[in-house]
Amino acid sequence: MEKIQNALSQWAKKSSFGKRYEEMKQEVLNHPGVRQFLHSHSSKITKEMVDRNLNTLYEYSSQSVHCTDCLTLDGCKNVMKGYHPRLELVGDHIEVLYDHCPKMNLELERVNRAKLVQSFSVPKEILSARFEDIDLTENDRLIAIRKAKNFTKSYVENKTEKGLYLYGKFGVGKTYLLGAIANELAKNGVSSYIVHVPELIRELKNAIGESTLEAKLNSVKTAKILMLDDMGAETLTNWVRDEIFGTILQYRMLEKLPTLFTSNFDLVQLEHHFTFNQKGDQEDVKAGRLIDRIRALSDPVPVGGLNRRG
Ligand code: ADP
Ligand code: MG
Repeated sequence: MEKIQNALSQWAKKSSFGKRYEEMKQEVLNHPGVRQFLHSHSSKITKEMVDRNLNTLYEYSSQSVHCTDCLTLDGCKNVMKGYHPRLELVGDHIEVLYDHCPKMNLELERVNRAKLVQSFSVPKEILSARFEDIDLTENDRLIAIRKAKNFTKSYVENKTEKGLYLYGKFGVGKTYLLGAIANELAKNGVSSYIVHVPELIRELKNAIGESTLEAKLNSVKTAKILMLDDMGAETLTNWVRDEIFGTILQYRMLEKLPTLFTSNFDLVQLEHHFTFNQKGDQEDVKAGRLIDRIRALSDPVPVGGLNRRG
């Protein structure tokens, strides 16, 4: 093997190929990353090792490391998108190892965070809501924003169980606040499930008599943090009130699972909504029991301000 290599380099020196080879070698050896690597391992790396590993050093030098010009992950120039090279001495070998670049790390964080925010029929813009982006010029909403932030903080610090019941007029940003809470929790590795109640009820009604009903109900019931968006906007029946809401809220109370709500109704109006079923029968006791559960699970917080929908 040695002999062949010697012979090759002798031959290479004499030909024009040899000239190009020498130029390339000098280029590779002058690459700042390669120089630094060779310098920091100078006691262990011989000239012969450099020659033998020239391919590896070339591979390293041809890939971008600091990516200072790189604006997006999509624009990555490297062969393996999102990875940048690092040289490593393994025994008497030089190897190129590939690590995630900072842009790739950011993307992975974003994807992981998105996985922590589960949702059912919630608009995209809500799923990207952030406290940082909230417009703080409207004083009417400041208390609600502060309470929402406090919830995430105290949940992360001491697993506070009591959620929020955010109520106010259409379009003031109640659902947006749920999204901001969910994303803030996700930053701390906490998962939550935002569910648009009218759609959930529609879906569950369609699943009556199917084996999927139980599983669907269970995934909502047992969510680590559940956010029920737009309570009272669903089409109410006795079954919805007692078997769906009743079951979910009872379970969450017993298991001490944090639950947040939004509604256009305050709790008095919501109780009224739950009191009358579709036949017009008045069922105060059942409605009262449900409201008691909501009160046990959450603190009512009014959300004021202007309608933000154009
Ligand atoms: P609600 O649930 O109270 O009816 P939404 O949360 O759906 O209202 O908000 C209404 C609209 O205003 C949505 O398009 C939402 O993205 C936008 N919005 C709400 N709050 C904010 C905010 N703080 N900053 C920017 N946009 C917001
Ligand atoms: Mg809403």
